[in-house]
Amino acid sequence: MEPVTQINVSALHEQANELNRELAAMDADGRLRKVYELFGEGLIATTSFGRDAALLLHHLKRLHIPIRVFFMDTGFHFPETLAYRDTLRKEFDLRLHTVSSDNTERRKYAVTENGELRITDTDACCGINKVEVQRRFLALPDVKAFITGLRRDQSSTRKDTPFATVQRGRIKIMPFADWPQEDVDLYLRLWETPEHPLAAQGYPSIGCSPVTCTRKPLPGEDARSGRWAGEAKTECGLHLDTEFGP
Ligand code: SF4
Repeated sequence: MEPVTQINVSALHEQANELNRELAAMDADGRLRKVYELFGEGLIATTSFGRDAALLLHHLKRLHIPIRVFFMDTGFHFPETLAYRDTLRKEFDLRLHTVSSDNTERRKYAVTENGELRITDTDACCGINKVEVQRRFLALPDVKAFITGLRRDQSSTRKDTPFATVQRGRIKIMPFADWPQEDVDLYLRLWETPEHPLAAQGYPSIGCSPVTCTRKPLPGEDARSGRWAGEAKTECGLHLDTEFGP
């Protein structure tokens, strides 16, 4: 990765702002075609194989955009998520890169209490198992831009999600930023994509399996309220604005 200087930081932000304006006038198909045309093999996709993962992955398959797909295996995923990963990899013929932490402290914060797996410091655990891992693959010299499935209606903290921004020195693309959940559900139903096994069990947002990290929302709560429930934490850090952080 090139050293980040003030000049190329400004140029990158300018490029992202211009792209954001351009993508805003397109639909999701147009956005994906445009960024593939711009970045080619330098474009990657990221996914956690959560409830709506098939939205992005099916688009890539349907539009013949055969880019690399990065998945962070935290070591704490539900077995159903790993099974879903394998199903979608086969179904969509994904060029999947499963990446995980080699930090010796990656399980340091995991404890079992009353038969339940809990994380004692979720910020530190996400830092090691997600943020550090993301930083490593985004720093690969052949990665120029990355796509995520982030959407504005997922939570109040995501309501201003743009179509393009800068994170960690790379252009970050969110082609579905303006899709409401109903449109996502309709798309997945129309194309009959495989469903995450936990979706039918009432999980609208599926993260890691410890009880501190994912539980079913109570009636009337928003879809992400079951993530780190009871903590102030609402994001794992992957989508926070830390583009040039340590
Ligand atoms: S979501 Fe939970 S288990 Fe997964 S990395 Fe973060 S703290 Fe660790």
